[in-house]
Amino acid sequence: MGAPMIAAAALNTRTGRKILIGASLAALLAVAFLLTPLIAVPFAVAGSIVSTTSAGSGAAPAVSGEWGFPLAGDYSKGRGFGYNPVQGCSYCSTDHQGYDMAQGCGATVYAAGPGEVITAGSYQGYGNAVRIDHGGEIVTLYGHMQWDSLRVTVGQAVTAGTPLGAEGNTGKSFGCHLHFEVRDSGTPVAPEPFMAARGLPLM
Ligand SMILES: [Zn+2]
Repeated sequence: MGAPMIAAAALNTRTGRKILIGASLAALLAVAFLLTPLIAVPFAVAGSIVSTTSAGSGAAPAVSGEWGFPLAGDYSKGRGFGYNPVQGCSYCSTDHQGYDMAQGCGATVYAAGPGEVITAGSYQGYGNAVRIDHGGEIVTLYGHMQWDSLRVTVGQAVTAGTPLGAEGNTGKSFGCHLHFEVRDSGTPVAPEPFMAARGLPLM
């Protein structure tokens, strides 16, 4: 209501002009500040391509021969295989049958090896899961993915690096992570030596 009057009055005084000049500079700084993200974004994107820490944003996972990591780039390790109770999670199994790894909710999960999708959807306590039959009685399982994130269907042939879905927190899960499980003749085996034998040591 009074702004135009104040502005008009300000123009008529020396002090007022200084205030207006100051306000104009402040406005310019504000605009420059608002534009900063637009200027910085290309560098951030370029950085994510080079960096291995922000995988899941398009970078492909490391592959060795026919096998590859189920996540692209660096990840946080959760529970390993074996006896591994989760503090504060009464419904989490104490005997952990897989290997937990995380990059963050929504990170892309990839097939670890060539085979055929035999499960793509809700599966026991694994939430939204994918299972891949690699032949020779070897099956890998990718658990807890986000609902509606699956990019494969039952019967589909995949290879290492085929995107399966997005890291999530479905089923008996305690925060977003990928539960990566390897079964040999139906029995869960430790994923660490299994992957290490294929030149892909899990940390
Ligand atoms: Zn797990």
